[in-house]
Amino acid sequence: MNKVTKIVLIILYAVGLWYAFCLPRRLFPSPCSVTLLSREGDLLGAHISQDGQWYFAPSDTVPEKFKACIICYEDKRFRLHGGVDPLAAFRALRQNLRQDRVVSGASTLTMQVIRLSRPDSPRTLPEKLYEAVLATRLEWRCSKKEILALYASHAPFGGNVVGLDAAAWRYFGRPADELSWAESAMLAVLPNAPALIHPGRNRERLLAKRNALLDQLSKKGVIDATECLLAKDEPLPDKPRPMPDQAYHLLERGRFDSGNGMIPSTLDTRLQQRVNAVAAHHFDLYHANLVDNMGILVVEVATGQIRAYYGNTRGCAADLRGADVDMIPAARSSGSTLKPLLYGAMLQEGLILPGSLIKDTPYNYNNFSPKNFNLTYEGAVPAREVIERSLNVPSVRMLEQYGAERFLSLLGTLGFRTIDKSADHYGLSLILGGAEISLETLARAYYYLAARLSDRALYKNLAYRTDVPRERLSEGDVPLSPAAIWLTFEALSAANRPEEEASWLDFSSSRKIAWKTGTSWGSRDAWSVGVTRDYVVAVWVGNSDGEGRAGMTGVSYAAPVMFEVFSSLPSSPWFEAPYYDMTQVEVCRRSGLPASPLCPERDTLWVPDIAVRPDPCPYHRRVHLDAGRRYQVHSGCYPVSEMVTDTCFVLPPAQEWYYKRRHLDYVSLPPKHPLFEVDAGERNPIDIIYPQSGVTVIPTRGLDGQKKGVVMQAAHSDPDAVLFWHLDGEYLGQTRGEHEKRLCPEPGTHLLTLVDGDGARRSVRFLSE
Ligand SMILES: [Zn+2]
Repeated sequence: MNKVTKIVLIILYAVGLWYAFCLPRRLFPSPCSVTLLSREGDLLGAHISQDGQWYFAPSDTVPEKFKACIICYEDKRFRLHGGVDPLAAFRALRQNLRQDRVVSGASTLTMQVIRLSRPDSPRTLPEKLYEAVLATRLEWRCSKKEILALYASHAPFGGNVVGLDAAAWRYFGRPADELSWAESAMLAVLPNAPALIHPGRNRERLLAKRNALLDQLSKKGVIDATECLLAKDEPLPDKPRPMPDQAYHLLERGRFDSGNGMIPSTLDTRLQQRVNAVAAHHFDLYHANLVDNMGILVVEVATGQIRAYYGNTRGCAADLRGADVDMIPAARSSGSTLKPLLYGAMLQEGLILPGSLIKDTPYNYNNFSPKNFNLTYEGAVPAREVIERSLNVPSVRMLEQYGAERFLSLLGTLGFRTIDKSADHYGLSLILGGAEISLETLARAYYYLAARLSDRALYKNLAYRTDVPRERLSEGDVPLSPAAIWLTFEALSAANRPEEEASWLDFSSSRKIAWKTGTSWGSRDAWSVGVTRDYVVAVWVGNSDGEGRAGMTGVSYAAPVMFEVFSSLPSSPWFEAPYYDMTQVEVCRRSGLPASPLCPERDTLWVPDIAVRPDPCPYHRRVHLDAGRRYQVHSGCYPVSEMVTDTCFVLPPAQEWYYKRRHLDYVSLPPKHPLFEVDAGERNPIDIIYPQSGVTVIPTRGLDGQKKGVVMQAAHSDPDAVLFWHLDGEYLGQTRGEHEKRLCPEPGTHLLTLVDGDGARRSVRFLSE
């Protein structure tokens, strides 16, 4: 091999090497507009790029109509050439040489792709030749289909619109693959002369160019004559349209980690639109009462995916305060929305059964004295009803029994991350809205429960993006058992919603939905969360700046929105009862507790299948009455033969006081017989030390022969207790600490009775000389 050959070979090799690497790996910078797509691929929203361009992420397909138009208009031999069209190039070269400047493009689509990727390079002949070389190189790298897609994604379409997809939405408000022939033709002529889109005389030229292209298509037989005629009749679009804005807050939330400019969301286009419409409809009513903000989240139980995300009322009215705030992750007072979780937890632990009576009497501890919504007390209320009616005082007693610390840990497992302070910080007001939750955490907790109960796969997080892998949660991680969840949902679906929730009837939904509302202190937050086997819908209504509005409650503001969203969803069958996780128990109908042998009416209930149960009903008691049923008696004070024995439902005195007002059938026990002594079976704090029953006391006498009396002694289990002394029904005085009293009874039989401050009493009958 001689020297020349070597040099030639080296040069050829160098040229080959240069050719191989002459084309940058990335032709185009990442697009800067961020688009939010529904799960069907529809455009829900777009955010303009920092330099003010509508420039969407590139698509790898080009709609057939636009493809036909652009090839016909720009590069008829596109499918035949290798990047450069020699015929056109030769003609252009001759023209350009004659004019000594570039007048004719002769650019193939491939060359135009190269040109678009080099926006700052000069338009000179050498540059053009260089681009032609790059174009041939691009033909090696990409298929014709890919080249066409590159062109469509990056061509200018007038103003700040780049790429076919952005142009289709901007000018026609539709995706590119839904454009007509006339629309596709108009877009095909634009990149060559983008300024034509501007209003004015340009429009006629644009129309002429479009129609000329339609004629050519007709001539080539791509469209028939009628199609052509109809297409030419279509007017040009008016001024550019706003981009879709269906889920602004989700777009804002996702755009900073969108990567390639596309947020592939899990939203359902039609449902999202429907939810927007429901919100707008209610907004008009609420706005009149100065309630301006709202958030709605719809989660599909089968997948844990978010199907509708309504962050706030932005766009419902001009200059709306606080409407830019995304209410989905916002932390707000929970109101009563956590109560059902406590109910479920207590059922699961065997601390209550659904009908267990919970004490509803005034509560005061360290200046914390919760009130029920209607400011009354009912003495004793079945736990199920506490949840259905969202009673505050019994809820506090339930939390007291369960333990705030334990409940906090349960909430943590259910993903309430905004509840992050200690049990001491929240205290028992935790159950009344003392802690903050977000729509997202609320929806997620109910989603966990629904998924667990319907035995669906569980995901640790709700997902709004289809490309984010989700961490699965194992079944056992949900802190409530299927049986506890089932009973909780049953309580929440009960049709019995009296008083403050009377308006539930307005929702007269034929479907079964488990739902709970909540209203925070000062009417600042109105919540409603509902669940079926297939969906969770969570709604918040209020003002994002925290201003409360009189009359705004969860049931009057949030629930109507929730029910309307449910009515837009396909109806779901109700959950199947998890009988595998339950067992049947005979309970007292009146107390809801496991029936004791004394309980007269019983029901058989399905309850969680666990070893621990509440104690049997203590309220049904056997009592002995006198023949006239006026007194309680016992064998020590009344002849056994005349006694009447009965079984009565007896509540502790304080509960009875309130319970009687609402339960007219409740019969209080008659008072105790004057001679009644507390049953031996009952623990009596009073003990009489002297005299004992039946003894004869002999009062001492002084030297003067006068009776000095006899010292009687008693004891009380509470060292601070006060005892009130009575002899034969006559009050003698009181003692504290040391219970001793000197008495001078007349000869004969006497009855000494001691009563303490709580009403406990003990009597003794003795004889005096
Ligand atoms: Zn009973």
